[in-house]
Amino acid sequence: MRNNGDLCTHTRMIMLEKFQSSLFHKCPRCLEGDMFPDMNPYHLKETAHMHTHCPRCNLNFEPEPGYFYGAMYVSYAFTIAISVAVFLAYYLFFREQGTVFFLILLSVVLALLAPYTFRTSRAIWLNFFNKYQPEIRQKLRTSNTPDSASVR
Ligand SMILES: [Zn+2]
Repeated sequence: MRNNGDLCTHTRMIMLEKFQSSLFHKCPRCLEGDMFPDMNPYHLKETAHMHTHCPRCNLNFEPEPGYFYGAMYVSYAFTIAISVAVFLAYYLFFREQGTVFFLILLSVVLALLAPYTFRTSRAIWLNFFNKYQPEIRQKLRTSNTPDSASVR
């Protein structure tokens, strides 16, 4: 039985690992398998190409058609956050350049970040609905085979 301090530390560690899973596009259940065959989101032909199942623990990444429509809400939140950050940078450093400059700057920043935010939105959406299972990760690490699809 864990006491409150251990529970807080444990919860914090899980949150940190889920955060890392979202940032680095890893499977939310095992945190080992890659969500995308090509991990570089800036290879634009492959940006939207995603594994159907986790190559490590076999989690179904798209349990129903249209599952990732919800990721658009996450993407929308990203866009708002980036827009606010760009506006603050504009307001603090480039205010005298004018509104057109701001709009061009915002468009360029959003376009440059789009492949990464697209994938990160999907990763966050998957993390909303899939619980991290450390025992599966442990099993995968001890078996240490590249495609341990026997863990389900
Ligand atoms: Zn997995």
